[in-house]
Amino acid sequence: MTHTLYLLLGANLGERKVTLEKALEAVRIDVGPVLKQSAIYETAAWGNTDQPSFLNQVLKVLTVLGPEEVLEKTQAIENRLGRVRRDRWGSRVIDIDLLYADDLVLETERLTVPHPFLHWRRFTLVPLAEVAPDFVHPVLRKTTRELLADCDDTSEVVRY
Ligand code: AMP
Repeated sequence: MTHTLYLLLGANLGERKVTLEKALEAVRIDVGPVLKQSAIYETAAWGNTDQPSFLNQVLKVLTVLGPEEVLEKTQAIENRLGRVRRDRWGSRVIDIDLLYADDLVLETERLTVPHPFLHWRRFTLVPLAEVAPDFVHPVLRKTTRELLADCDDTSEVVRY
């Protein structure tokens, strides 16, 4: 049984583009083949504006792993690539969020799918709209395009 995942990569410290490339390669090896990748986008940091801007990219990934196993793999990749955890919206070398796993709706202590902030943030929706414009959010019942049109976030998300 295979599952289709959408992952959001974010990097705002160090060699940001190199980190995204390493993360993509690690996802390919540890999670599964990358079917699509968005362009890389740059966005001013969200929630805490005195930190460096973010590079973000969305990957469409095929996997045989369940969502909890995917989270374990992506957290191990974050740790391996040198994540520095400071505060909730703080700087980090690499952040990997699980946005969607098929049309699964799941809420456990460790994992909420779809990702709870997905529809709030243009830095997620803009790259997601590039690889999955017509994917329907299984709770909100809106396509990525519709979520983007409805999103109140005004931050500028520009192609890097
Ligand atoms: P953050 O520091 O914002 O990356 O949050 C990481 C924490 O969010 C981890 O402890 C995860 O267990 C939890 N989490 C819950 N849902 C998700 C998700 N869909 N993708 C990634 N992390 C998640």
